[in-house]
Amino acid sequence: MIPLSHGKSSEMNLNAKLTILEQMVDIYDRFIGEFDLACEKYCAHCCTANVTMTTLEGYRIITHLEKAGDMHCLETIARQSHPDRFKPRVSINRMADICARDGDPPEEQMDPSAGPCPVLADDACSLYGVRPFGCRCMVSARNCGQTGFADMDPFILTVNDVFLQHLEHIDAQGFSGNFSDVMQFLDSEKNRQAYTAGQLGPPPAGLVANQPVFVLMIPPEHRDRIQPWLKQIRSIQV
Ligand code: SF4
Ligand code: SF4
Repeated sequence: MIPLSHGKSSEMNLNAKLTILEQMVDIYDRFIGEFDLACEKYCAHCCTANVTMTTLEGYRIITHLEKAGDMHCLETIARQSHPDRFKPRVSINRMADICARDGDPPEEQMDPSAGPCPVLADDACSLYGVRPFGCRCMVSARNCGQTGFADMDPFILTVNDVFLQHLEHIDAQGFSGNFSDVMQFLDSEKNRQAYTAGQLGPPPAGLVANQPVFVLMIPPEHRDRIQPWLKQIRSIQV
């Protein structure tokens, strides 16, 4: 079961966290499979340089690249990182925490014209099977290329937030940041070793510290409907 206390989360080993991540992806795929979406292969208007993720998701990608003998992908990511890519100032759980305490969250600045994702090639994702959750949960009922925006059911937005919050929770000792920044951080063997040993220090410039869930961002109108999905997340066994 995914622990909802900081202490237990920090005790989980990396393999257990990766297993939880895989199971959460499976649950999410079942959830999103219930919606009629316009998303299809080679539709890539949403594949921008602004995607964010956790270190756990980055580690999963690195593991995939190692197995595939495709580590040179990291050079491509570093080379094609867009200078104006989105860099969050706080993690989603920190943001939820600040809002729940009536605090003043920092203003996040995102340039929608920051350019394409560095691993997008011929309108296809070279990491599709292990893409960040932020990509997986970006969906639309109508083609964004035609509408100019994503048409997302508000309940999907709520479920996305809850999944993102839990993903950060299981990686509470890690960092979050732009896809390129997390990948470049994990490109360093020293950083990877510190991460796998659970011995990361403070986040470097460009990344932010993760934290456990203290409050879930669920609007009142979705509290009943989301229960079956929360139950599935919380009953994950490793
Ligand atoms: S979110 Fe929009 S751009 Fe992305 S795959 Fe779906 S329809 Fe295409
Ligand atoms: S990682 Fe893949 S799915 Fe995500 S933005 Fe980049 S190309 Fe698109």
